[in-house]
Amino acid sequence: MSAATPPDQRASILLVDDRQANLTALCAILEPLGARLVCAQSGTEALRQLLNGEFALVLLDVQMPGIDGFQVATLIRQRPATAHLPIIFLTAVSRDAAQIFEGYEHGAVDYLVKPFDPIILRAKVSVFVDLYNKSRLIERQSELLRQREREALERSSEHRFRSATESIAAGIWVADDAGQFLYANRCARQLADSVDFLAAVDEAERGGAAEVWRQAIASGRPFELECRLGRRWHLVRGVMQVGEDTAPLGWIVSAADIEELKQLSRAKDAFLAIVSHELRAPLSVVLAQTEPALADRRRDEPDYPDRVLAVIRRQTQKMSRLVGDLLDIARIQAGKLSINKEEFDLAELAAEVVERLRPTGERCAIRLATGGPVRMCGDPGRLEQVLTNLVANAIRYSPDGGEIEVTCAEHEGAVHLVVVDHGIGIPADKLATIFDAFERAHGDAYGGLGLGLNIVRGIVEQHGGTIRAVSSGKRGQGSEFHVMLPAGLASSVTSAAV
Ligand code: ADP
Repeated sequence: MSAATPPDQRASILLVDDRQANLTALCAILEPLGARLVCAQSGTEALRQLLNGEFALVLLDVQMPGIDGFQVATLIRQRPATAHLPIIFLTAVSRDAAQIFEGYEHGAVDYLVKPFDPIILRAKVSVFVDLYNKSRLIERQSELLRQREREALERSSEHRFRSATESIAAGIWVADDAGQFLYANRCARQLADSVDFLAAVDEAERGGAAEVWRQAIASGRPFELECRLGRRWHLVRGVMQVGEDTAPLGWIVSAADIEELKQLSRAKDAFLAIVSHELRAPLSVVLAQTEPALADRRRDEPDYPDRVLAVIRRQTQKMSRLVGDLLDIARIQAGKLSINKEEFDLAELAAEVVERLRPTGERCAIRLATGGPVRMCGDPGRLEQVLTNLVANAIRYSPDGGEIEVTCAEHEGAVHLVVVDHGIGIPADKLATIFDAFERAHGDAYGGLGLGLNIVRGIVEQHGGTIRAVSSGKRGQGSEFHVMLPAGLASSVTSAAV
């Protein structure tokens, strides 16, 4: 160990003697051991050296002017840092035994009587130097071991952090305290090729996001912002992590997809705007009719009250239908849509609805294809709503005309109702969502509210049935709505009429 030990890590030996000649002799004897030799010519000097450095051993001359060797030894033992420091007393041959044993009382580990044999002195000292070096080696090794354990722990917690974040269904970025991005989890990497969070931000919002990020790094304060990542709206949050000593460690930026929430709130906003508009129109007509009536101005017109009342009734019916639809939606959403079942003829009901709607659909020919009565057990009032909605939609979304066909048939206990039009059709990605409340496939252009099909589906499902839409999405090729309902009769054979 000694030969390979670097100079700065060598064991130090403190040599204390008031005579320079003795010190020189000691140095010459001990030099081959390769230790660092520090000389002190008085007790005071020795104590000062002990305060400044760490020693493996002290060679202490007992007989010194001022503080003698025994007093120095006492002070060494009193100081906790040096309490266990080995001491070899150097004493003259003439010292009596009592004085030498005094050294033992002070806890000295050994003594040598002058003039000493250089080989014996070197041998004794080398034992202590070896002991010191070995204990230092053990200390270093255990420190190394602790460091390795620490590193392994850090590695495994880093690994745990990464594998946990990899599985999270939200974007996560990690940056150092200077804002340099170091890592992006799987979800984040799907948004951009780079680990840099800003690369994932939509170009339109990137400038704003970069400024928020810059301010956050400068202030160390958490931030929150809404921006589009990969075309979808996200809520982005950034928090600076601090260590146990509150020193900044770096940043964690996370992004949660809020696209659906945004859409929902947009749909709600649009819906509110439409509903208030739809209610205001008939209300203002009603008001316009009632105000002159109250002002008693047009009593001379013979048909005046009937005409006014007809307008008021028509507009009030419109409002009450809207409010009725809203109530139905609320009931469907709460799972409280009640149906009163009875046996009736769906074909007859379909004929009635077609007849009723025909005048409004003058530009479209409506053909009813039923092979005879289709008896079933259900709520005729509610199923009339279904038919009305489907046929009215077929008319509304066929602005260029085209034949509308309503088919109604029963087969093996199941009733199949189909409404086919040749209108504008429905885009493929909207075929499922149009059955959700407030969802419209064609925006404001056709004046609907997006409530009808949600109610239709609610009613059909409450009857234990299903509904689906089929369309190529091409204008003129139209749409088909297929409703399947259980006939719900005791014996479907007796009622089979097709
Ligand atoms: P709306 O009152 O808007 O018509 P619905 O719930 O009845 O509400 O329909 C939802 C959306 O489905 C409509 O806004 C329209 O875009 C689409 N849709 C419904 N029926 C048809 C159809 N026959 N042809 C084309 N699109 C339709």
